Amino acid sequence: MQHLPVTVHTVPCLQDNYAFIIHNSQTGQAAVVDVPEAAPILAKLAELNASLTQVVLTHHHWDHVDGLPELLDQSTSNQVAVIGATADAHRLPPLDLSVEDGDQVQIIGLDGDIMDVSGHTVGHIALHIPAISAVFTADSLMAMGCGRLFEGTPTQMWASLQRLRDLPDATTVYSGHEYMAGNAAFAQSLGEDNPALTTRLAQVKTQISQGIPTVPSTLNEEKATNPFLRADVGSMQMAIGMVGADPADVFAEIRQRKDNF
Ligand code: ZN
Ligand code: FE
Repeated sequence: MQHLPVTVHTVPCLQDNYAFIIHNSQTGQAAVVDVPEAAPILAKLAELNASLTQVVLTHHHWDHVDGLPELLDQSTSNQVAVIGATADAHRLPPLDLSVEDGDQVQIIGLDGDIMDVSGHTVGHIALHIPAISAVFTADSLMAMGCGRLFEGTPTQMWASLQRLRDLPDATTVYSGHEYMAGNAAFAQSLGEDNPALTTRLAQVKTQISQGIPTVPSTLNEEKATNPFLRADVGSMQMAIGMVGADPADVFAEIRQRKDNF
């Protein structure tokens, strides 16, 4: 596989949000995914000496967009294209490019695929960039978790998660929050007989105690351990007493248990 001089930088923002900078060190171009707040992103762009060309907004929640005006205002670049979902255009900041499921966009010269991953909100998008094996999922698929269903239905979120699950195993999952402490405790509480989960729980315990971000993760480990991707797996259905049930119903039950956890 051809080596690209592209690195994704994880930028902690606010209390527990993540923004991401996709940076090409050869061209100096950078794109940002989500803008919880401007300052840490501006600092990282300056450190990289990067020129911001694009911002992708995954969904309309304030903790993913509120830093945008300051970022655009303070950025040293004068041509920054803001990209977001057509379906959300009425409640996102002004967009230069509105996109929908199946659209291809060029992100600092790389092909990016837009996926509608509604559930947390309706109109939530994910960005998949095959050339760097990366998917930016924000509050849809999260590290050992998934977003709460504020707008969509369980059936809708389950469909979104299945599409993300179908991406190549080696895909790196860049999600929007550091929620691992709660997500790991919840996953453990379900009592699934799953050696991969035991292994990952030990690993994230170390990460959490050392203050190391648990984002990004790989799709491979999410498939093996994320309860919300396992609604159609026998050992998970067994653990929650729903053997043979419709996976969408199993997903709904797991999501409801998490809401009350
Ligand atoms: Zn959100
Ligand atoms: Fe969020």
